[in-house]
Amino acid sequence: MGLFQTEHENVLRTFYGPDHAAYESVLESLARFLGAEVEPMSPRFDEEGGGIAGVRKALFDQGLARIPFEAHGGISLPFGVYSLAMELVGSADAPTAMSIGVHNMVAEGVFRFGTTSQKESVFSDLISGRKLGAFSLTEPTSGSDAKSMSTTAIREGSGYALNGSKMFITNAGDADLYLVFAKTEKGHSAFLVDRSTPGLSAGADIPKLGMRGSRTSEVRFEDCHVPSESLLGEDGSGFEYAKSMLNGSRIIMGSICVGIALTAYRKALDYSKQRALFGQRLADLQLTREKIANMRTEITSGRLLCLYASRLKELGLDHASEAAQAKVLSTEMAARVCDQVIQVYGGYGYTDSDVHRHWRDARLLAIGEGTSEVLRMLIAGKEVSGQR
Ligand SMILES: Cc1cc2nc3c(=O)[nH]c(=O)nc-3n(C[C@H](O)[C@H](O)[C@H](O)COP(=O)(O)OP(=O)(O)OC[C@H]3O[C@@H](n4cnc5c(N)ncnc54)[C@H](O)[C@@H]3O)c2cc1C
Repeated sequence: MGLFQTEHENVLRTFYGPDHAAYESVLESLARFLGAEVEPMSPRFDEEGGGIAGVRKALFDQGLARIPFEAHGGISLPFGVYSLAMELVGSADAPTAMSIGVHNMVAEGVFRFGTTSQKESVFSDLISGRKLGAFSLTEPTSGSDAKSMSTTAIREGSGYALNGSKMFITNAGDADLYLVFAKTEKGHSAFLVDRSTPGLSAGADIPKLGMRGSRTSEVRFEDCHVPSESLLGEDGSGFEYAKSMLNGSRIIMGSICVGIALTAYRKALDYSKQRALFGQRLADLQLTREKIANMRTEITSGRLLCLYASRLKELGLDHASEAAQAKVLSTEMAARVCDQVIQVYGGYGYTDSDVHRHWRDARLLAIGEGTSEVLRMLIAGKEVSGQR
């Protein structure tokens, strides 16, 4: 914890100058909570799955969903501090971090695009943790090509009837509120749908390689009637909202990966100091030192790019490309680092789930919220078209 604290202190000093001390105390208290309540549960979450229900209230009581928001109960800290907080959660338990990250993305959507009444009711329920959110964009036949979705929202009386199916939805089953993207006469729109709405049903949990502590399933809408007040923002603007929400969340998925990599790296570093071979510690062999240096350097670079993208977002500057860069770099970095961690542990790395689960967890994040391929297209598209 000592080294970790110094790292955060230095990062906060560099990015936030005189304000660093206040932010440090927020992160320290969060780190203490996570160390006591979440990290010890992490191997069990991986073995048993089942979602964050058991720790949900305690997590929200820590203010995790209030950090980046102003007004309506938010505590208005910079997005970069939120990004470091999510790095800490990712470091304690990646599936928990993913569940919270997705939930907070829904909250951000309501905060930025919702009506005053949606902010006063739905938003404050979300950031207090009274309600858990799910972001429902992907469908069985449309993931990267999300715009080709089939789910429809047809005007009926004073509301809409939703029909269709959403695939791989994080928090489904546990969620109280689904942010659902569907096609209307005006284009793509977003709707806030309560879990109790007749016609909405979540399927069984989908078994996964990693991130087993977060629930994932299909969500179906069969003549699911919602009132007009469920529409988020303007009819026809839903796809633009989704893209904008994903820009912020991609930074957070990158930060979670920095946290995953850091935890796995620390384990390997400790192990290499204990394991003796050829009459020396594994940590003293030159090829191990190369791995240690590479892992450390990559983790630092991922964190700094996430923080740079966060600062652009805080300042209201365009950050779509930097958020994509932060996610590509950090998610691929984490998978590489966690793979090297398995290598440092040798046979024990391949057989001990408490070592290989970090690689299994990290692997998802080069797929969810925009695959590495899609994000490379976004980054290169801006470069080639001269939009930067
Ligand atoms: C555990 C988990 C949790 C998830 N949580 C959510 C959630 O909460 N909400 C939600 O809406 N979605 C969620 N998703 C869905 C996720 O965002 C999609 O899986 C992802 O966007 C990719 O879509 P796809 O799986 O349909 O793959 P496809 O879009 O079919 O892609 C297949 C492959 O084609 C590649 N590809 C795409 N474009 C190109 C190109 N131009 N050239 C070459 N290759 C290309 C892709 O990168 C990928 O490698 C989750 C997924 C998982 C596995």
